[in-house]
Amino acid sequence: MPKKNKPEIVLKGIPAASGIAIGTAFLMDQQDFIVPERAIFDDEILVELARFEEAISRTKDEIIKIKEKITAQGGVKDAQIFDAHLLVLEDVMLIEDVEKRIRSEKQSAESVFSRVLKRYAQVFAKIQDDYIKERSADIEDVGRRILKHLMGETRTHDFDQLAGDVIIVAHDISPSDAVTMFDKKIMGFVTDVGGRTAHTAIIAKSLGVPAVLGLKDATLRISNQDQIIVDGRKGVVIINPDEETTELYLKEKEKIAQYEGSVAQMPDAPNETQDGRRILLMANFEMDGEIPAVKKYRAEGIGLYRTEFFYMNRLDLPTEEEQYQAYKKIAEAMSPNPVVIRTLDLGGDKFISSIQLPKEMTPFLGSRAIRLCLEEQDIFKTQLRAILRASSHGNVGMMYPMIAGPGELRAANGILKGVKQRLREKNIPFNENMPVGVMIEVPAAAMTADLLAKECNFFSIGTNDLIQYTLAVDRGNEKMAQFYEPGHPAVLRLIRRTISAAHDANIKVSVCGEMASDPTLAIILLGLGLDSFSMSPSSIPVIKKAVRSIRFSDAQELARQALRLSTGQEVEEFMTSELTKLVPEFYHYHGRAA
Ligand code: PEP
Ligand code: MG
Repeated sequence: MPKKNKPEIVLKGIPAASGIAIGTAFLMDQQDFIVPERAIFDDEILVELARFEEAISRTKDEIIKIKEKITAQGGVKDAQIFDAHLLVLEDVMLIEDVEKRIRSEKQSAESVFSRVLKRYAQVFAKIQDDYIKERSADIEDVGRRILKHLMGETRTHDFDQLAGDVIIVAHDISPSDAVTMFDKKIMGFVTDVGGRTAHTAIIAKSLGVPAVLGLKDATLRISNQDQIIVDGRKGVVIINPDEETTELYLKEKEKIAQYEGSVAQMPDAPNETQDGRRILLMANFEMDGEIPAVKKYRAEGIGLYRTEFFYMNRLDLPTEEEQYQAYKKIAEAMSPNPVVIRTLDLGGDKFISSIQLPKEMTPFLGSRAIRLCLEEQDIFKTQLRAILRASSHGNVGMMYPMIAGPGELRAANGILKGVKQRLREKNIPFNENMPVGVMIEVPAAAMTADLLAKECNFFSIGTNDLIQYTLAVDRGNEKMAQFYEPGHPAVLRLIRRTISAAHDANIKVSVCGEMASDPTLAIILLGLGLDSFSMSPSSIPVIKKAVRSIRFSDAQELARQALRLSTGQEVEEFMTSELTKLVPEFYHYHGRAA
């Protein structure tokens, strides 16, 4: 029910996952995260002590900076609060208590520290004294800052505290947070930060939860319990909608439900153009819960299995056996259709608790994906063994993420060769001819596609990263969203080059980035000769309709013309206007994917 006497406010952000949610806002405190218990070995004690010291020193720097900023803005009195916070950081008793316990209890710095904090809070809670109460609040505040530094990007929000259907409003939601929402009753989510192809947006799509990201100050504008509407198609959030607006959106929601019901009745007709070019439409896959959607939308295989999500929200690394069982399960569920397992793609915006990555200034350009696997070879080999073993069930392929050229491909294949040899020696069955592909997501890979094609069995173009690395635009940064142009001539030329190199070498090429699920852009990819598309399962019906609505020869001509244009915007305008003429009934509704 809309609340009276509060004005309706409309916020505009980035449409991340389609659909409409109408409900009550639940403001997720940035600081409400789970602190896992983690036992350490003797030789890790010094490391944990050093991490604790580092977290304290970072917190000190942070508080000094805030204090200086507030003082500069004239808030001298307010700035004094931070003196009390700085005193907490010099509290010898507190610090020594934590250090002693790290040594004696052999637990990670964050687990010990959070327990000590709780103990302080319990003691203070019993004392009825205003001074003590204030001091307790200071310790709590500073404590959260220290924990934030100790846990870095591996923090996970505690969604278990949620009761009932709510729309989550948070400054940020990490990809690992997003996957834990799978079995929670969450109607939608909105965040201050994030871009259209950030992994959080991708997971929102997989969950089928409407999401608007990058609203910049949603957490300041929305209060807990506010009624809000999230329109994930347009990237709009309405706070305190009046009755008329609510009515309008309820009707719209109903229309979407009807439409989705109708497209879900997928025709048995093949995925082919009007002049008979057959295209494979596959699904991207992150977690088991998606299998029903993969089946419902009749994906012709899994074109991208993002295995890193299997490593998230747990304290230990998954064992070879666990991974083998998981990969085998999906291979068997999809058989005889293909399942392409991507090796671990950590770093960038995806982090896990079991591998503590050093903080980097620009993580997307740092130790990410294949680079990390080549550094952490034990972890890589365990995964390769599991994938190879799964390859004896169903139709399994494997690909490496973020390859920048033949050197890395050879290094990865060298390790794969060794792992295969060990399996052979132990008589463990695997498919000797398991296809091994390369993801083309770095411009260097697209430019060397002719060389790479000679040393692998297929390509899969990861446009989410290819766009970010080509245009130097952080895919998760809402402030750069206007520069993130899938139709930019540089991107289209690299894709064209990659497809030609693949076909010259007689190998197949797929696109598994979000570009594949945008019907306007998908027609360009089709026209460039792409063999298969992989996308979140719910996008399949729309792309199927797009493919079936056009002649391949027309798509080729459109792609040719689009590649002569100068900007991403020109490309999108050209395509929308041409497609509206060619297939008016379809493109009237689907001009752009939300
Ligand atoms: C991509 O980069 O387009 C891709 C499919 O991989 P991810 O989104 O997981 O980085
Ligand atoms: Mg990628």
